[in-house]
Amino acid sequence: MQPDDHRNLGNKLDLFHFQEDAPGMVFWHPRGLAIYRELEEAARRHVRREGYREVRGPQVLRRAIWDKSGHWDHFRENMFILEDEPARLAALKPVSCPGHLEIVARMAPSFRDLPLRLAELGVCHRNEQSGALSGLFRLRQFVQDDGHVFCSEAQVASEVARFCASIRPFYGAFGFEDIHVALAGRPESRLGDDASWDRAEAQLAQGAKAGGLDPELAPGGGAFYGPKLEIGLRDRSGRSWQCGTIQLDFFLPERFGVEYVDSDGSHKRPAMLHRALYGSLERFLAIVLEHHRGRLPPWLSPEQVRILPLHDSEQGAARLLAHELEERRIRVEIDPSGESIKKRVALAHAWEVPFVVVIGPKEVEGGFVDLRDRDGRSAVARGEIVARLEEVVRPPL
Ligand SMILES: [Zn+2]
Repeated sequence: MQPDDHRNLGNKLDLFHFQEDAPGMVFWHPRGLAIYRELEEAARRHVRREGYREVRGPQVLRRAIWDKSGHWDHFRENMFILEDEPARLAALKPVSCPGHLEIVARMAPSFRDLPLRLAELGVCHRNEQSGALSGLFRLRQFVQDDGHVFCSEAQVASEVARFCASIRPFYGAFGFEDIHVALAGRPESRLGDDASWDRAEAQLAQGAKAGGLDPELAPGGGAFYGPKLEIGLRDRSGRSWQCGTIQLDFFLPERFGVEYVDSDGSHKRPAMLHRALYGSLERFLAIVLEHHRGRLPPWLSPEQVRILPLHDSEQGAARLLAHELEERRIRVEIDPSGESIKKRVALAHAWEVPFVVVIGPKEVEGGFVDLRDRDGRSAVARGEIVARLEEVVRPPL
């Protein structure tokens, strides 16, 4: 295993572990969960800005739902099946789409409600073969940042454009600038006639272009229910990871009987777009960890600031500063050990803490602190340090 493998980094930085009692499922430690929460919050802020409303469907759904969605026929070996009553089969959800379809069907939207955008950080279970499991890259339990847009056919291209225009700043915040996009077209075995595929592929291409992307064509790569755009990120090691996607779906709104009332009173079938930016949060976190080799941007760092009081006499000053930082939701620890400052600074670096604040008698008396970041060292006025740190750890999204 490479030292920059996320499993090694997870161990070294005390982020998470796996054990045989729960194959393909993660035990998140406090530091790992701190990063995970930042990913969740970034996704929530993003969908809110983009006009989605957050929903949550059930974790266990009966077989009838999976018959409708096609999963029972096509995906059953990957599902955790259980009996919720004797002789009544149900399954842990492998995707969140059916829950959203049922919610929209109950909402009975009119044309005025469209585009209707729903999002969920959905816990998904997939019964992957144990040989296929691979750290955070491939799990049996993970969270998908799922979102669905229900819209009229005339709105598809502008919804795709809106999604495409939003992705560069989003991935940029995690340090990914090199983005490539593929348009995966009709596969051999598919639903729908050629005319509707022509239209659907053209709508995705047009939307991508209007959103500032230039997709490569990948004929045959689409899902059986519709074409998709696949967003790939290139990492520092030159590896490419498919993370984001937006897919057009002809199939599920019909299977779930989803309709909207149009301006002339007629009932129409909305188009459905499935979209995600991370795909799996766990997998994305692993990609980010490996991309940065554990040295995460400050906003993602589990411990953003470490305070080192030089002697016992500066403990009070250290605690006061830590308290002020915590009030601003900055993740801070104090290392009060009797070790030398040099050793404690080296230890903070080993933990990849981006900001170290040293307080000695000179600092207390002079009303400043000694701030050490990844670039060097500076004296900052005590009255300014909180605002300064708040500025540099603020999420860019
Ligand atoms: Zn979906």
